[in-house]
Amino acid sequence: MMYLSTRDVGAQSPAGFSDILLEGLAPDGGLYWPQTLPRLGRGERRDLRRLYADWGYPRLAWAVLRRFTDDIPEDDLWSLCRRAYTTAKFGSPDAVSVAELGDGLWLGRLSNGPTAAFKDLAMQLLAELFEYELERRQQRMTIIGATSGDTGSAAEVAMLGKSRVQVFMLSPQGRMTPFQRGQMYGLDDPGIVNITVPGSFDDCQDLVKAVSSDADFKAAHAIGTVNSINWARLAAQVVYYIALWLELSADDDESVSFCVPTGNFGNILSGHIARQMGLPIEQLILATNENNVLAEFFVSGVYRVRSSAQTLVTSSPSMDISKASNFERFVFDLLDHDAAQTARLFGQVLPETGVIDLSGPLLARAQRRYGFVAGTSTHADRLATIRRLHQRTGLIIDPHTADGVHVAQSHLGGPKLITLETALPVKFAHTIAAAIGRPAPTPPRFARVLDTPAHTIDLAEGDDVERLKQIIAAHVRD
Ligand SMILES: *Cc1c(COP(=O)(O)O)cnc(C)c1O
Repeated sequence: MMYLSTRDVGAQSPAGFSDILLEGLAPDGGLYWPQTLPRLGRGERRDLRRLYADWGYPRLAWAVLRRFTDDIPEDDLWSLCRRAYTTAKFGSPDAVSVAELGDGLWLGRLSNGPTAAFKDLAMQLLAELFEYELERRQQRMTIIGATSGDTGSAAEVAMLGKSRVQVFMLSPQGRMTPFQRGQMYGLDDPGIVNITVPGSFDDCQDLVKAVSSDADFKAAHAIGTVNSINWARLAAQVVYYIALWLELSADDDESVSFCVPTGNFGNILSGHIARQMGLPIEQLILATNENNVLAEFFVSGVYRVRSSAQTLVTSSPSMDISKASNFERFVFDLLDHDAAQTARLFGQVLPETGVIDLSGPLLARAQRRYGFVAGTSTHADRLATIRRLHQRTGLIIDPHTADGVHVAQSHLGGPKLITLETALPVKFAHTIAAAIGRPAPTPPRFARVLDTPAHTIDLAEGDDVERLKQIIAAHVRD
């Protein structure tokens, strides 16, 4: 199993799973994609059904992940999967489950991990993989990331106690919810350094890029990332699409559809990968909030990125994106792996014009062959959906999940439709209170999150990337 960059014209530099695990972006600026996807034919689906029924989620994760990697011995991979998905971390031997919402609609429950967001499912495994591979290479890694709220806590909690990994996480001052702040800033460990930035998520992201583009600094401190362009995160997410399909399908040929709240195109891309492998998925329904760059693409075929100033601040903040970093992978697949075209579109056309036009046959292919449809949800839709579902079922969903449920409601009538839950409502108390008059109850394990003292280094207005580098250099462990 080898991987190629989406911009590797002539397939010059295939790389193994363990290499791309630590690498992030390919040296040519592209993203890695497997040379051939593992197949999930009827026989494999039947085997996975039996294995999942007998052994549960960690074993399913192992059975899927081993198809994406041939450079980690199977016994070792099994230990990593077992450690990533323990009952202690996910509250049950099965890390995911389904809940019926009525009218043929289901909720894929993915947020029972340590930080109450679906990102735990990938990040817990990523942390085990990192520690394993760094140990094998006798190396260390300094992770630098930016978060708008959920990635930061999922990454920090996953990497906590991993002796070969240290995390520097930048977050925007005053933009995260009190719960998200408590969850991240409450961590008191030299391996975790929270740096707050006066500005927006995009400002944090720009600082991370500026640090990463200093090749000397990057090499000196072994800088790496945990963002959603990491292939291992996508592969780990394929597992829960399969698990949810197994939970709901009566036999090995029954199709289901998924509706996925989308920001960086990471979560739904894993659904596309699962579908390309052969999982019987009829439709992949993409849900955006008011920042509807991606919904616009799947309706018009035109991908028009926005500047950060044009990105609206909404009540589903983890989907407030101006540019979807994983979209290049989807287009590469849509173009039948034409690396020259992909390199031209994402290396030249997009940076120069801000637009990629794939209207016509390519759009038709995304819709018909790949089963993509899309819809948009607004603040009012979000609140109404949370309120209605709560009245009808007693269940409280988070604002991002509500964007998904809202869009899913326009696509009922086909096979079973599963909306992916992206987070628990406890993370977004203010919006929940606006919808139903009071915040969601706090799960007992989070009872003390809001009372934990904050541990942060706060950048001031005017502090630049040099100041950030000083801070990092001063806190890197040896
Ligand atoms: C990360 C996140 C999303 C968006 O997921 P992508 O993989 O970026 O598409 C949506 N909702 C919540 C709560 C998130 O944390």
